[in-house]
Amino acid sequence: MRQSQLFTKTRREDPKDEVSKNAKLLIRAGFIHKEMAGVYSYLPLGLLSLKKIENIIRAEMNKLSGQEVELTALQNTEVWQKSGRWADEVIDVWFKTNLQSGGEIGLATTHEEPLSSIMAEYIQSYRDLPRRVYQFQTKFRNELRAKSGIMRGREFLMKDLYSFDTDQEALDGFYEEVADSYKRIFEAVGIGHLTYKTFASGGSFSKYSHEFQTLSEAGEDKIYISDKKGIAINEEVFTDEILAELGINKEECYEAKSIEVGNIFKLGTKYSAPMNLMYKDEAGASYPVVMGSYGIGLGRLLGTVVEVLADDKGMRLPKSIAPFTVHLVSLGGSDNVKQEAERLYKHISDQGVDVLYDDRDLGAGEKLGDADLLGLPTRVVVSEKTITAGSLEVKDRMTGEVKNLSEADLLASLK
Ligand code: ATP
Ligand code: MG
Repeated sequence: MRQSQLFTKTRREDPKDEVSKNAKLLIRAGFIHKEMAGVYSYLPLGLLSLKKIENIIRAEMNKLSGQEVELTALQNTEVWQKSGRWADEVIDVWFKTNLQSGGEIGLATTHEEPLSSIMAEYIQSYRDLPRRVYQFQTKFRNELRAKSGIMRGREFLMKDLYSFDTDQEALDGFYEEVADSYKRIFEAVGIGHLTYKTFASGGSFSKYSHEFQTLSEAGEDKIYISDKKGIAINEEVFTDEILAELGINKEECYEAKSIEVGNIFKLGTKYSAPMNLMYKDEAGASYPVVMGSYGIGLGRLLGTVVEVLADDKGMRLPKSIAPFTVHLVSLGGSDNVKQEAERLYKHISDQGVDVLYDDRDLGAGEKLGDADLLGLPTRVVVSEKTITAGSLEVKDRMTGEVKNLSEADLLASLK
């Protein structure tokens, strides 16, 4: 892609109405547009990153034998009344509206009820189990505070996976598989080293659920970490009881702020029973299906990567989720430089490497500043100087290391 053709432009100044680092940087870099508090549009660069994250997650969901669906955003009141979650006292973030033809509907905050109700049409016997179903779908939540940029949206994309099993043992096994899969996802997007599987409240078939918490001062959560045991505990369940259960001393734990990037829940029969999602065992006896639910917010994940990896010059995006791998920057307007940069742009692209080519007629300071802001992993400079030297100036954005490489060595390093 030629940067001169990209409809977005970078901004020098931070947007005045944003306090979070992720929103400031993503808006300045032209990745996202703020529609209103907690509501963001994804522009070309931001969408490329979001899609890469989506594909990393999708590959993992498919490995778990997940079957992808796309459920509706508009929600049927009756379905939610069965579980009691239509009530604002139970889910306090509903957006609700009235149909012109009469009757109320809601915008989906999550999808346990509608999916259970669909599965009830297809699951009859133990032979129909287990099943794992997932989607990437927009959730709407009337969040009270939306000051964390794309990490807390009122409209946001979530990957939600649901598991359907015959019994607790099967659920327990799958739950651990999902936890392993989540670890791989957070490693793949570059935050594995900062992310802890954390004991949290809320499992309805188990005492605890687990959250994946990434250390960050920008986090809204507080966790306690025991490095000795490799365990983290959310403050909401940090009690003498859990410490005793896990065999941890209070003294060995330190406190940290963190961002919840994902969570996993053992739901048991909490939703299957009211939704009448039943199966018959071999003897013909009927039981409610045993469920789990597993979420990851994609915008929250992108926002977290930006928060924890950015430096004072801008974003630093791992190759796995950067909109482009290479930022090719031509400096100086001579025909010589232009020709050489054009040739290189074509050549690198032909090797199957995705390149953003900064072909704009702007000064070196501005172009290099933009490259730092966008944070693509590999910056390649072509200038009179590099042509004379017969090599390319290659900067690794993550480490800041600058090297002079031959074209062949650059291409080899990108493979
Ligand atoms: P939080 O405690 O942060 O509000 P939650 O417990 O409401 O999160 P879930 O309802 O379980 O979260 O949603 C699953 C995942 O979706 C979360 O782990 C997080 O990654 C993401 N998520 C939740 N709320 C938001 C939001 N408002 N904006 C963006 N992502 C979100
Ligand atoms: Mg919430």
